[in-house]
Amino acid sequence: MKVANVAGRLALVVGEGAAERAVDVGRASDGRLPSDPGEAYGHWDELRAWAAEASAAGARRLDELAEPLDPRRLGEPSPSPRQVFAIGLNYRDHAAEAGQDVPTVPQVFTKFPTCLAGPYADVVLPSDRVDWEVELVVVIGRRAEDVAEADAWSYVAGLTLGQDISERRVQFATKPPQFSMGKSYPTFGPIGPVLVTADEFADPDDLELGCRVGDEEVQRARTSLMIFTIPQLLAYLSGICPLLPGDLIFTGTPAGVGSTRNPRRYLQPGEVIESFAENIGTMRNRCVSGP
Ligand code: ZN
Repeated sequence: MKVANVAGRLALVVGEGAAERAVDVGRASDGRLPSDPGEAYGHWDELRAWAAEASAAGARRLDELAEPLDPRRLGEPSPSPRQVFAIGLNYRDHAAEAGQDVPTVPQVFTKFPTCLAGPYADVVLPSDRVDWEVELVVVIGRRAEDVAEADAWSYVAGLTLGQDISERRVQFATKPPQFSMGKSYPTFGPIGPVLVTADEFADPDDLELGCRVGDEEVQRARTSLMIFTIPQLLAYLSGICPLLPGDLIFTGTPAGVGSTRNPRRYLQPGEVIESFAENIGTMRNRCVSGP
């Protein structure tokens, strides 16, 4: 199943590729299911059951209700999470380029939820030290407390794509560094374009993702290269604090960020960050200068 936030309303995405269209869940379910994408994750099992039944028995009705999917109307697939976790140094090649040891336990920080933005939103640059980080993002579909790795996927609503936009001057202004602040300016967390359930992937632990800045491809990797897998991250995080429906986990970025290049490269006003992940799609975020 694929779902999207279309202009603030929950939509089921039907069809493939260029033929993808959106069905408004609130209207198609006659109000039985929430129309607010933020509420969907608290009703995830009902939503999945309804979508399966509607696709099998009422495919014609869904087809009649489907509307063209206009990327410019897409918002965050989970727009109001209570917690947004992010993982530092979760790919060996990124730890190496950052000159850091490979961690033996997940290095966790938070992106405050006010930083989230849609998959086609502008990224507002507050300075000339802003960097990109493409990441796979996990969305939680069920309260998870102290879950075992073997059960972890059953707590995941699905996967989406994100950019962990980072202001490096603020991030490294203190010792130890303050990741959470440098990565939480407004618009520093674009996510989308859609949420895809794990069963839609041949292997949800091995998908390709990457990003381009302007004309240059700067990152490309596979999530099977992550140091801590999604089940390991869920087991670790949920062993400390409960994970709640709609919560996000940014799972770390592979090599290719701008601040570790020689010479260093940062985002410039007018540049477009194009992020892509297999079977999830593409986000395009234009950079604009801040106030
Ligand atoms: Zn990151």
